[in-house]
Amino acid sequence: RPRPGPHRVGAEIDLAALRANVRALRERAAGAELMAVVKADAYGHGMIPCARAARQAGAGWLGTATPEEALALRAAGDRGRLLCWLWTPGGPWREAIEADVDVSASDPWALREIIGAARACGRTARVHLKIDTGLGRSGCQPAGWEALTAAARAAEAEGTVRVAGVWSHFACADEPGHPSIAAQLAVFREALATAARAGLDPEVRHIANSPAALTLPEAHFDLVRTGVSVYGLSPSPEVGVPADFGLRPVMTLRARLALVKRVPAGHGVSYGHHYTTPGETTLALVPAGYADGVPRHASGSGPVLVAGKWRTVAGRVAMDQFVVDLGGDTAAEGDEAVLFGPGDAGEPTAEDWARAVGTIGYEIVTRIGARVPRVHL
Ligand code: PLP
Repeated sequence: RPRPGPHRVGAEIDLAALRANVRALRERAAGAELMAVVKADAYGHGMIPCARAARQAGAGWLGTATPEEALALRAAGDRGRLLCWLWTPGGPWREAIEADVDVSASDPWALREIIGAARACGRTARVHLKIDTGLGRSGCQPAGWEALTAAARAAEAEGTVRVAGVWSHFACADEPGHPSIAAQLAVFREALATAARAGLDPEVRHIANSPAALTLPEAHFDLVRTGVSVYGLSPSPEVGVPADFGLRPVMTLRARLALVKRVPAGHGVSYGHHYTTPGETTLALVPAGYADGVPRHASGSGPVLVAGKWRTVAGRVAMDQFVVDLGGDTAAEGDEAVLFGPGDAGEPTAEDWARAVGTIGYEIVTRIGARVPRVHL
């Protein structure tokens, strides 16, 4: 009997769930537009199919970190509003401007390069000026903001630039009630007022990521930039579980057992023998390893559904495989092992993996390796 699913390991991507998540987020952020953040191969889910599904569900905007990601979306035929924010000197500004990609500037050097590229191709660049309201990452420091807005206004007068957005990013929105949230909002409002005094009239003011989109309506402004929630994961346990917001995890990672065998008591398992069988038992080999994105730190903690029960990774995760101890249970080669999924068929979730290895769900899904086939349903 042919078995459905991958012959080794594969990630099933439930695009209907993604569309439903986008619709749920749009409803929650009613009054604001929605940007689906599809950077990093849509957090590991496959950028192009996820971007299409997000558009179908009404995402007016897409967001990427790198210009290469934005240009790949255009090459795949996406024509909607698209913002790309992670730039370095000498980046492909001109290609982005010609492809109608909105670009971000945090600093006069970026604005200068944008103006140069816009002049070179005779286009008006749509720019989002970024203020660092407290994250301490990209963004213009408040002390330099007035000068940046004035320079952008001068470029608008010349026709090389249109300031389409003023924006920022939260540091601690995934910890609701954190004092930095109100402080960042106050700096953002002040920056908007400064931009208005400079004569700028941006189409979209935006600061909210998923946690702010889910928990902080006063941060929605004109646009929310949602990433992890589009893929049905919660930003943090403090924010809640996906179901609290009508979200459903989009990725299910399944494997097929490659070998099932009886071994005696006292048998060391995998590199370093960090697990030794406590008695005669059945071991099952799961053909997925850290090259596929299974965290090596999952040794002794990572949960996997095999033969109807959660098992724990026994011994070290290797590059391509790991072992689970079935104890008194049995299974056969080819049986399914579910590493994570939505959780409603008894399988662990990406958040369970995150908890088991001391990281966040974002990292679990984003690191699923390139050699794992994605099947978009
Ligand atoms: N906006 C920016 C600038 C980001 O870098 C990210 C991702 O880290 C997001 C929005 C989306 O964040 P989240 O996945 O928490 O929604």
